[in-house]
Formats: sequence, C-alpha cells, structure tokens
Amino acid sequence: MDDWQFAPARELRRAFILDDSRLGPIHWYRPGKTAAVVLSVDDVFPGTSRSAYESGGDLEKGALGRVLWLLQRHPQLKLTLFVTPDWRRISPTADRLWRHVPLLRERLYLARVLPKGTMDLRRHGEFVAFLNAMPRTEIAIHGLHHINRGQAVSVEFQNRDRAACAAMLAEAMRIFDEAGLRYVRGLQPPGWDCGAALQQACRDVGIDWVSSARDIVTAVARDARTVMSGLSGVSMLFPERIAPGLLHFSTNFQATSPAERAFAILEAGGVLSIKAHIAKSVPGHLHLDGVDELYMNYLDRLFCEIEQRFGEAIDWTTLNQLATPLSAGASAPPTEQRAAAVAHCAA
Ligand SMILES: [Zn+2]
Repeated sequence: MDDWQFAPARELRRAFILDDSRLGPIHWYRPGKTAAVVLSVDDVFPGTSRSAYESGGDLEKGALGRVLWLLQRHPQLKLTLFVTPDWRRISPTADRLWRHVPLLRERLYLARVLPKGTMDLRRHGEFVAFLNAMPRTEIAIHGLHHINRGQAVSVEFQNRDRAACAAMLAEAMRIFDEAGLRYVRGLQPPGWDCGAALQQACRDVGIDWVSSARDIVTAVARDARTVMSGLSGVSMLFPERIAPGLLHFSTNFQATSPAERAFAILEAGGVLSIKAHIAKSVPGHLHLDGVDELYMNYLDRLFCEIEQRFGEAIDWTTLNQLATPLSAGASAPPTEQRAAAVAHCAA
C-alpha cells in the first residue's frame, strides 16, 4: 500500500509510525499488503499424555503434530507459540476443599498444582529442541508458572507490583535462556490480565509487545475497540501502542467464530488474529479453541478461502514480525517477501 509513495512522504510516515510518544492504533503493513493473518497457540509446555494432560509434550504425536500438519498445508502460514517456562497448574478451576474457607482461600492455591520444577524447560531438553526446530514458528512468553493464589486460578500477575512482575518476567526469560529456547520479546499474560504494573514491568525487562485482549463478539469495524476478555478499549483490529515502548495486539477470532468474521476483518484492512489453546480437554474444563483435528481442519479450509479471495494482499506473519518495524528500535524498513505458492488450495 506504500508502493506509490515518493520518498519524502514515506519518510514522514515512517517517522510517525516510530514516534514512540504517540499512543493509539497503527495502520501500517509491508509494501503491497493490505491486511495480515497471525495465528497463536497458548499454554504450551512439556506435559504429555502420561501427565494430567498433553500440552505439546508428545511432540509430533500430539497436539504440536496437528499444528505442524497445518503449517505443512500452508507454506505461507507462520505461528506464535506462547510457552510457559515452568508450568504448575493442573486444574484451571478452584477445586480444592479450602476454597470454602474465608481468608485461607485468598492465600492458597485453590487448584491442584505440580511441584515447582516438574515442567521446568531446563529439564525437558527434547521438548526444547523440538520447539526450536519447528518451521516458521516463534516462541513468546506465557507467564512463569501459570498459577495464582486465590479465586483467579490462572491470573498470575494479578495484584502484583511492578517490581514483582519484573522479577517474574526476568525469571521466565532466564529459564528460556538456560534451557536454550529461542524466543522473542513478547508476552501473553495468563488469564488475559495486563494491568499498569505489568505494562511497566514489560518495559523494565525489554518486552516489546503484549497480547492481552480477546474480543470475538464485537462487530467488525476499523475503529472497533475490545470489550470482552483482558484489556478493554484497545483496538480490536490493529496494533496499538498502549504505552511508550509497548505495543498491543488483540485476539479477534477463534474456533467458534464464523468464517465471515475473518473475511470482514481482512476486508477492513485489519490483523486477523487467531487464537488456539494447545490442549482441548483439561481437568474440569474443555477449551472451545483447543487444538483438535476439527479446529485444524476448519483453519485449513479458512486459509484456503483467504488465499483464494485475497491472494497476495495478505501478509502472513507473526505478532513479533508485525511488532518489529513498529518498535522504536527499528532502523530500516522491512524487506518485501513474496508469499509462497499454495498449489493445493487452487484445486
Ligand atoms: Zn494460558
């Protein structure tokens, strides 16, 4: 969409995009692109079918194998996996007896938890190697332990101050580093919760972007703002600078969303941001957007339809690749890349 612009206009626009003091949605794509598709999967950790539930640990034989099938079907598709460095939550619901005891229930884990270190990535080298080898896949941070005391079982950063949040994020990155996992500087906070303290902490530890709003119900419009899970009032369709040095991306599509919603987002020039959870069934809960064969088949058909309708206009990218040229540290415009041909979809 920038192809026709002569250099001074392009430079002015670029200066505007990178002006870190400006907050609000950013409408910008690589030259020739008018909309984007990103896919992200939450709750990835080394749990296997011999654990409480499988969450990637069965490698190609489990849920990650189903995601790899989708990547293989669509050579232009890219992926963000939100990985938890030392996952501890067994059940996502408060199911322990002391949930009924006043005072005590705010100080204890109300869900069953794994001992610290059980799922620590530093103890799961084969899993880390598998993630590092996945094609067109970036790893981003999904909390530290994915557990919280009190009723909000998964909302890990809730009611913590800036220093505590920063310490947890630094520990998460230390585990990734020591495990040898390659990752990008992005965060999906467990439970979609990203308050002011966590936003400040992100910048303290060098995290460039967060994804902490989900809205799969609000009608599609270029100026639509989120009202559902997590941050409210942020752009539903576009990257938004929510604080100096911190970008935000919303989730706006999942397994239960009709295909027409995806087409409307792309026709509006937005980022179609699709969410999945790696496990379909966990103790006490069924993820509507779990990575099962049905959801992967749905996305397969949806991507074929998008390829046929929109062709080369779509930037098939990742959250971090969208964030990089918009962050203050960016130095040169991103280079044009041609989308791979997808012969099977033309059939
Ligand atoms: Zn999660």
